[in-house]
Amino acid sequence: MQVPQFSLSSQNTKIKEELDGAIEKVVQKGSFILGENVRKIEEDAANYLGVKYGIGVANGSDALYLALLACGIGQGDEVITTPFTFFATAGSIIRAGAVPVFVDIDPGTYNIDVSQIVNKVTDKTKAIMPVHLYGQAAEMDPIMQIADKHNLKVIEDTAQAMGSTYDGKQTCSFGDAGCLSFFPTKNLGCFGDGGMVVTNDSQVAEKLRMLRVHGAQKKYYHEMLGINSRLDELQAAVLVVKMKYLEGWLAARNSLAANYLGLFKQHGLEQVVKPPLAINKAYHTYNQYTVRVPYRDELQTYLKDRGVGTAVYYPLPLHLQPIFSSLNYKAGDFPEAEKACEEVVSLPIFPELGHEQQKYVVNTIECFYKEKGLL
Ligand SMILES: *Cc1c(COP(=O)(O)O)cnc(C)c1O
Repeated sequence: MQVPQFSLSSQNTKIKEELDGAIEKVVQKGSFILGENVRKIEEDAANYLGVKYGIGVANGSDALYLALLACGIGQGDEVITTPFTFFATAGSIIRAGAVPVFVDIDPGTYNIDVSQIVNKVTDKTKAIMPVHLYGQAAEMDPIMQIADKHNLKVIEDTAQAMGSTYDGKQTCSFGDAGCLSFFPTKNLGCFGDGGMVVTNDSQVAEKLRMLRVHGAQKKYYHEMLGINSRLDELQAAVLVVKMKYLEGWLAARNSLAANYLGLFKQHGLEQVVKPPLAINKAYHTYNQYTVRVPYRDELQTYLKDRGVGTAVYYPLPLHLQPIFSSLNYKAGDFPEAEKACEEVVSLPIFPELGHEQQKYVVNTIECFYKEKGLL
């Protein structure tokens, strides 16, 4: 049996006609930049997320960068974030001229350890950038309390967590700005790159609309140093179609997660494979189903040889990335993030994953640990 870590083929087949129709309409109309579909998905996403404004941009990385600029973060400012995330989180902070200040993660949720944030606040700190990793909300109550107390902006990296809630409220609606990615593997993905910033602040929204077109409000009259970063009309047309299915896909991800848990128990794997910890306040949308395991690399090879795709998010924490060496962090600075990098593996998960496929994955994991003598 073949079980890819991620696949869109059956989803695309199911809604192919709708997608084809939407794309064809854009081609016929011939309006490819900032047209009606971009406006529609900006509205649909903002409504769904319970925020006032959505501003479509070229990708999730630009969403983070432009959100920082729109919130006034720049040269010399410090932004507190996690070292256990995709590169773009910290990359965007550096692009904005600011300095990422890392805080270790909670080993259970893999999200920023809120109890360690205050220790890192200095008079240069201007913002916190929490990441809702794998589809689970960071602890937004304490994060917002710290931000209020120290007068910090909060820019949420919601790239992996569209539709995830905390205390019944959508992630990306807590802070000054929330950043989404529509990369194909995300909860809502387009047919290429795409992203969005959402906000309740009309001034931030206004700045973002300028920043994505080289800082101009009136064409060819530039007031800010922006970039070219727009959500394509074709991508927006795809997203408008897919948006209707998002809730169903998130529910499917949730039942797949429950199935994995049941299967681990059935196969006596609870002592060996540590499933994701879902905190009470959060609706986890399982953009990734990430477990912590012994002999991680060997397991990965074993599964690959038997047709099961897995992925490691992430093998090297950001504070140890060569490009960030000038920040002067060293191995041992964030032990939980470093440990997670060695122990986590993300199993196949996507809304159309079949039950037989899941059984095969868990069965194969059981075989591996039997061979290892752990079962
Ligand atoms: C995917 C991702 C991004 C960047 O999104 P792109 O659309 O690929 O630029 C940023 N942060 C996190 C946590 C991500 O997973």
